[in-house]
Amino acid sequence: MAPSLYIHIPFCIRKCEYCDFYSGVATEQDIDAYLDALEREFELRFVERITPATIFIGGGTPTRLSAKQLLRLGDLLRARVDLSACSEFTCEINPGTLTPAKAEALVAMGVNRASFGVQSFKTKYLGGLGRAYEAGTATAAVEMARTAGIERVSMDLIFALPGQTLQELREDIDTALGHGTEHLSFYALTYEDDTPLTRQLLNGELQPCPEELEREMFTLVGETCTAAGLQRYEVSNFAKPGAECRHNLVYWTLGDWHGLGSGAHGMIDGEISAVAADYKVYTRLISEGTLPFSRREKLADMSRAETLLLMGLRLTSGVELSRFEQWAGGSFESLCGEKAAALKSQGLLETSPTHVRATPAGLLVLDSLILELASSMETTV
Ligand code: SF4
Repeated sequence: MAPSLYIHIPFCIRKCEYCDFYSGVATEQDIDAYLDALEREFELRFVERITPATIFIGGGTPTRLSAKQLLRLGDLLRARVDLSACSEFTCEINPGTLTPAKAEALVAMGVNRASFGVQSFKTKYLGGLGRAYEAGTATAAVEMARTAGIERVSMDLIFALPGQTLQELREDIDTALGHGTEHLSFYALTYEDDTPLTRQLLNGELQPCPEELEREMFTLVGETCTAAGLQRYEVSNFAKPGAECRHNLVYWTLGDWHGLGSGAHGMIDGEISAVAADYKVYTRLISEGTLPFSRREKLADMSRAETLLLMGLRLTSGVELSRFEQWAGGSFESLCGEKAAALKSQGLLETSPTHVRATPAGLLVLDSLILELASSMETTV
């Protein structure tokens, strides 16, 4: 399969209270200069048009761009990207920033899947998260996207919000499902270093969701989505059959993708690349004719095997053993056997002749499970 393509747009209309991603509040001139730089990055990196299997435009907030700027992005992509083999073209959308003209510009660009960062349908939680829209905005934005011709819709929701009840989460899930959404992503709120939300937590201004309630919420999400015909295929992601995010599956199975734009990461045949995160540094480097990488590193085969385990155990289908063993240089049993046996006896891990996967109980403690397996590989090597 040809490498996929990720394009990063690092601009937001304002900073959300919980966010530690690199993103900036920029002027129209900054954004125009960024699009110039993106165009030049394509020229510096690729001699010919590329033919990606999937495309994902993420951020930041891609729909922070004006309709005119989105049309320009579409023009520059059309000149450098052949869409003939592209089976999925996603754009992330912050509901509060979409307009009918922007939705039409996305369709003209080739976007066929909209990924809405809804987070919650309740105004009281949206305010606490610092999201720049109100309840009802997401509903209108989904309608706009559908009217423009984007049929495939995904939504991101956050749970374990301070003060959130199971009933409120149930209502959010029902509202999302009520939009005929074919794909849902659920993330427990995390308190990242040095964010306004974390400062409120440290100052005792808010009470985090109790761990037991968070586990109940995780279970509720799974049960409600399954009952509605959306299967969990990744620890945080649910889809109707055939509606799994093909682009993200490339990451989770350690496929190949190019990452363009400031802060973007890529991986081609085991070589990781990272583009300079600061968009001003990025535009300056490009204007000097310099490739804007902040990191380029070929992963050793064992690191590749570990990374595959790290990413692939997030999938309910698990990790393909033959792929793991091709890089690990030995069988899964020989590298992780003792630890894997212990995790199996605890009902957290299971293996088949072809795959190793986390059980539903294992998915609840996935981070520690992965750490244990990875450390057992390190001690074996
Ligand atoms: S819109 Fe997304 S990237 Fe931008 S500040 Fe909010 S959470 Fe962060």
